[in-house]
Amino acid sequence: MRINLEHPEVQKREERLNSISGFAGTARELCDKSNSGRLCDKKRSFSQCLGCSSGNAICQSIMIQDTVTINHAPLGCAGDFADFNFTNRVNRGFRNLEIKNCRAISTNLEEKDTIYGGGEKLRKTIELAYERYNPKAIFVTASCASGIIGDDIESITNEAEEKLGIPVAYISCEGFRSKLWTTGFDATFHGILRKVVKPPVKKQDDLINVINFWGSDIFTDLFKRLNLRPNYIVPFSTIEQLEKISEATATVQICPTLGTYLAAGLEQEYGVKEVKAPVPYGLKGTDNWFRELGKITGKEKEVEELIAKEKEKIAPKLKELREKLKGKRAYVTAGAAHGHSIIALLKELGLEVTGAGIFHHDPKYDCDGGARNKCCNGSTESLNHVVNTYGDVPNFHVCNKQAFELVNNLNRIKPDLLIARHGGVSVWGIKLGIPTLLVGDEQFGLGYQGIINYGEKILQILNTKEFSENIASHSLSPYSDWWLSQPANKFIGGK
Ligand code: SF4
Repeated sequence: MRINLEHPEVQKREERLNSISGFAGTARELCDKSNSGRLCDKKRSFSQCLGCSSGNAICQSIMIQDTVTINHAPLGCAGDFADFNFTNRVNRGFRNLEIKNCRAISTNLEEKDTIYGGGEKLRKTIELAYERYNPKAIFVTASCASGIIGDDIESITNEAEEKLGIPVAYISCEGFRSKLWTTGFDATFHGILRKVVKPPVKKQDDLINVINFWGSDIFTDLFKRLNLRPNYIVPFSTIEQLEKISEATATVQICPTLGTYLAAGLEQEYGVKEVKAPVPYGLKGTDNWFRELGKITGKEKEVEELIAKEKEKIAPKLKELREKLKGKRAYVTAGAAHGHSIIALLKELGLEVTGAGIFHHDPKYDCDGGARNKCCNGSTESLNHVVNTYGDVPNFHVCNKQAFELVNNLNRIKPDLLIARHGGVSVWGIKLGIPTLLVGDEQFGLGYQGIINYGEKILQILNTKEFSENIASHSLSPYSDWWLSQPANKFIGGK
């Protein structure tokens, strides 16, 4: 699939990848439907609130150093600023950066702007951002309001770019454009590819782009053993760093849901090879991922040595953890590919995965399979890898954070453990008396040592059973007995 950088707006995921946000069945059924092209989105006849692309776009742009993010929107849409500024402040330590706030401004679109247009307000805000912060680039994120009134953000940003002499990028993340909030990641990466990345001056053979969120640094040490260097993008990178990502020899990603668009764009435009193996969670995934990286960088021998050493190092502890965790029943709720990675980790540790509420599903990625096909036994994405390697997962829901469906499932399945990637959903596990692990640092479970990290953390969490039950005994549920006795998928595909 060709990524069209001529166009100012990113093509949304439901059109580009046929992504869906509603499904109930088993993981294997979902894979079979995806692989045979028979997957269609099942709409909900009732839905609670959900996220929007704007938040996902902002979470990638706002933490780039020496830049300003302007949210061209009513003030309410800037609620994301506080969330991601918190993430920024907490996680800057992982990169040894001074703790400071993000730089973000709202144009504060008001009722009269929806009648007369908000273009002038945006022009003035860009000038103010430049004068106040002297940034190296400005990102302008769109909103439902700016999209509905039809402000020409592309022209305004292009004019400003010419006048100021720095990249000023339009990020097409209007909330109503896409039902998949992950389209927001793609929108920011589209803006970066169009306006920030420069053609390579000199290729850097040891440089590996690592598309990640904001987790801990585990790659510097691992890559050093292969004479490679990680280049963490996009949060916390500088504009100078992003300009040169075209010079890297390969791109890896810790989550294809996050990075598929940027990785594919870099390969298409600048020949930076994307490691297309499923992400390195669990033994087989990690083996495949390192082997693919070794092939691209010509380090096959070093990679085999690293794999052997790491596996030998963790083997006794892994055996011990598997014995302790055998038969424990877990439920997972997380974004698509990261949720699949957590399932792989749990199954590797010997837990039974009794169900999953995964926020959306991409039947394919932007790379159109390629080498990823080989690595996943004929599949094109991470869920196929999990099902082919570890077996099926029952009660597999594609559920875009619909709390009422999650509570119904947890109440019925009653797992020993809930693993959640997002704070807003983890609270439901505790309210039901289920020991719950909130996964903040996505790098925590990555690679060989990550399996051990996860296993040890799960043992700690399982010991919080009494604490969780205590909280549950003091919690009131907003859901009626009627709803809890219904099938969780009652409104999926309904009228
Ligand atoms: S962009 Fe739209 S959906 Fe997103 S926060 Fe603003 S109003 Fe809500």
